[in-house]
Amino acid sequence: MIETNNTAGAWSQAISPKNDPWDPIVSLRKYGRHVLTSVELTVTNLCNMRCEHCAVGDSLVLKEPEQLPLPLILKRLDEVEHLQTISITGGEPTFRRQTVEEKIIPLLKYAKARGVRSQINSNLTLSYDRYEPLLPFLDVMHISFNYTSERDFHEVGFARSGHPVPAEAAYKLYDTMIENTRKLSEAGMFISAESMINYRTHEKLPQIHRMIVEMGCRRHEVHPMYAADFAEGLPVLSLAEMRQAIHTLLDERDPSIWMLFGTLPFFACSEGEADIALLRRLRKEPNVTVRNDPDGRNRVNVNMFTGDVYVTDFAAIPAFGNVNEGRLDDIFAKWQTEHPLNQTVNCHCDAAGCCGPNLLVADMYYKNIDFKTRQAITL
Ligand code: SF4
Repeated sequence: MIETNNTAGAWSQAISPKNDPWDPIVSLRKYGRHVLTSVELTVTNLCNMRCEHCAVGDSLVLKEPEQLPLPLILKRLDEVEHLQTISITGGEPTFRRQTVEEKIIPLLKYAKARGVRSQINSNLTLSYDRYEPLLPFLDVMHISFNYTSERDFHEVGFARSGHPVPAEAAYKLYDTMIENTRKLSEAGMFISAESMINYRTHEKLPQIHRMIVEMGCRRHEVHPMYAADFAEGLPVLSLAEMRQAIHTLLDERDPSIWMLFGTLPFFACSEGEADIALLRRLRKEPNVTVRNDPDGRNRVNVNMFTGDVYVTDFAAIPAFGNVNEGRLDDIFAKWQTEHPLNQTVNCHCDAAGCCGPNLLVADMYYKNIDFKTRQAITL
């Protein structure tokens, strides 16, 4: 292994509602400016599913080229001075066993040795032995869970397959996912199940939540769905419907499990009373956190095939650098200081614990608002 920039110590504190190293507000408060603390690595564009909401759907392929050499990626990670977290994403990262053995495990070992936290975004539908080897190294296994039955899973998970997928085949994958989630949770894996708030789920989130609790997940993440890639043509919820969905979920949730909300379209500078009431409630609820959006704040995405560096894993915003050409800290600094898009949402109201909207959120709901001229009210 190459010599590391040792930041050991991050490991001493368990990931919890009080310690979420993915939240950009943590490093913003620590360094007084946004710094790169999080790198997301796209290790594959292969996937056995084609979900209707997939945020990287347009990038999925059936065959993929060679990756850049791993030592180059590790070198680029090692140069990131304040690295705190890595996230491994796809496609389905474990789609090929070879990727697990030759890329994912070395990346996780690197992270662990350096005291950096790790996450994998997976659908957990493949065989258990694909995931078991990750147990000693991985901090967070992140899955999507938007279903109340195998029928939902069949409908949602294969909507963009381009050919009919037999129900029985989908049901089998659904059962495997549930079984894997249970078994890995029992074996000690921290599984964080994410549900989207969208036109399908907004009235059944409490039921989805109960299933997540029953599977033994340690955290339920809840994010609104935004119109990117495959989700572009799907119906969009109004802000009122979204607020209502969150209130109902908070009314009915099991408060013993951590609930993390992210990419919310509600801000403490809002003039709407309903927004402020919701934010106040979210603050007060035990075991509930609201994560600021990492995209472009403290995180970049690296495509391990091309080396291109993006602000998000879905490529609506073109790459703004490449790992073949330089250090990630330098590429990130350029985005921070020069990119016109960043200048529109790069606000910060510390008392509200807020560092501005996600780029897609601003574009979808707040097109003509200049957040840099706004100020949070006291929550
Ligand atoms: S940081 Fe930006 S979005 Fe958040 S409350 Fe302040 S002005 Fe509004």
